[in-house]
Amino acid sequence: MEHNPANSNFIRNIIKEDLESGKRNHVITRFPPEPNGYLHIGHAKSIVINFDLADEFNGKTNLRFDDTNPVKEDAEFVQSIKEDVKWLGYDWDGLFFASDYFEEMYNRAVLLIKKGKAYVEDLSADEIRAYRGTLKEPGKDSPYRDRSVEENLDLFQRMREGEFGNGEKVLRAKIDMKSPNINLRDPVIYRISHASHHNTGDKWCIYPMYAFAHPIEDALEDVTHSICTVEFEDQRPLYNWVVAETEMESVPQQIEFGRLNITNAVMSKRKLRKFVEEGIVDGWDDPRMPTISGLRRKGYTPGAIRTFVRETGVSKGSGFVDSQMLDHFVREDLKLQTPRTMGILRPLKVVITNYPEGQVESLEAEINPENPEMGTRQIPFSREIYIEQEDFMEDPPKKYFRLFPGNEVRLKHAYFIKCENVIKDEEGNVVEIHCTYDPETKSGSGFTGRKVKGTIHWVEATQAVPAEFRLYEPLMLDEEPEAEVKADVADVEVKEDEIVEVEKNFLDRVNPNSLQALQGFVEPNMKDVKAQDKFQFFRHGYFNVDPKHSSADNIVFNLIVSLKSSFKL
Ligand code: ATP
Ligand code: MG
Repeated sequence: MEHNPANSNFIRNIIKEDLESGKRNHVITRFPPEPNGYLHIGHAKSIVINFDLADEFNGKTNLRFDDTNPVKEDAEFVQSIKEDVKWLGYDWDGLFFASDYFEEMYNRAVLLIKKGKAYVEDLSADEIRAYRGTLKEPGKDSPYRDRSVEENLDLFQRMREGEFGNGEKVLRAKIDMKSPNINLRDPVIYRISHASHHNTGDKWCIYPMYAFAHPIEDALEDVTHSICTVEFEDQRPLYNWVVAETEMESVPQQIEFGRLNITNAVMSKRKLRKFVEEGIVDGWDDPRMPTISGLRRKGYTPGAIRTFVRETGVSKGSGFVDSQMLDHFVREDLKLQTPRTMGILRPLKVVITNYPEGQVESLEAEINPENPEMGTRQIPFSREIYIEQEDFMEDPPKKYFRLFPGNEVRLKHAYFIKCENVIKDEEGNVVEIHCTYDPETKSGSGFTGRKVKGTIHWVEATQAVPAEFRLYEPLMLDEEPEAEVKADVADVEVKEDEIVEVEKNFLDRVNPNSLQALQGFVEPNMKDVKAQDKFQFFRHGYFNVDPKHSSADNIVFNLIVSLKSSFKL
């Protein structure tokens, strides 16, 4: 796989030193998604970092589903995540589920209790919050903190057996209520949740919290470098505490990097789910979604996504990256591999009055002038063609070089035509243009008699294939939608009303014009296109055949990217 050592990546340096100093003799990384939604481009960053680093140091990368929260998780998401990782071009070594370790985790929690390092708490979530203190004030010990080991063992077992309702009790690590690091103020490590789990069914009604489960998962898999995003930085001391106190044999090292944020996109699965549930988009794979499946359906390529992610580098900071940078790499990737063709998005009929009625000729055109190996195609030409409405103006401004009464333009791959007459309906709308053509000016004939300033594209009308073109704009109006509220890593559940508050205002900023569908025509040689086929439509941009809505009767093309970019690398 392609590596660009020039890109800064401080994690690579840490791994290199670990191997050189003998601290490690092998490298294992992991990509640990929670199966509570579809992967997005931010996850692609984590995937590329983890797999590339292991690859570079002859190590291994596991795909591990961090499925410790039964209410939000689903087998559908497990399936889609596997597909997306593969599509991005990666193959995991081990495939694991955190839920397969529940028994092991339970035993480690029992070990903590026996060591006097964990206790069963009866306070409610709100009380726990109140007792925890703030950044300025130390926390207070819970009245249940000094329960005996025996009582704790008994209560924890009864929690497992289902004796208590949700929220009635939790298990907390006994660390330090006065620690300056709030994460160490006796974090909750187990909670009760009477809910069916996608993998373990109804076997469990207590589930480990992320902060407890994750280090154990890493250690059990002998992960050497546990790479995560910066919001976990303050949790690192807790991570290390769990590994040490549960007496794990293998000691992983947590390393944090800055999240990837992209302009005009929200990237939390919770918010993306909201788009799906509210019907704002057509599923998780809607081409406007920053999900991997959305980008795939829009027509982005895995190679372009990998290059983009690598070029953004690996650092501690998480600023916004301009979405145009991703588009730039998509164009670069598509330029040489996609066939070029002509399509009319907003048709206007042109009749070439001096072209013999009933005659159709076949013109030859290169499929991709930048890649001659792709060969040529045949395009029919006859008396009736379609052009773009915007390529004709009855009353043009200065410097308009396309069609207007009396003006001559070049039809790409065909002839010069001259506008002679404009046909209108009763309301004065232009319905048809009458032109004449000059047979001497055939493309490729070497005609040098005179020059024209405009070249426009067209499609022969009698054989044209109807097609729908879907044009997209970003879903979010804000260039930098407010960064993710990382509440779900806290040791107690986020309050529903907090979430609702966040979601209410981000939905207000959805772009109402993010999708525009146009009914036009494409060349007849396009009639057998298949899902995910990609083309460059002359003067318009790159398009992908929509895998969900395209059919033989109605071909649907999604705009991938336009041709022009103001982006400078
Ligand atoms: P979300 O809030 O979107 O659900 P998450 O962090 O909760 O994101 P996980 O399924 O837990 O999602 O993430 C799996 C891995 O992907 C984690 O290691 C996480 O840090 C990483 N990741 C998630 N979002 C980003 C991002 N925007 N940039 C880089 N890495 C990310
Ligand atoms: Mg999450």
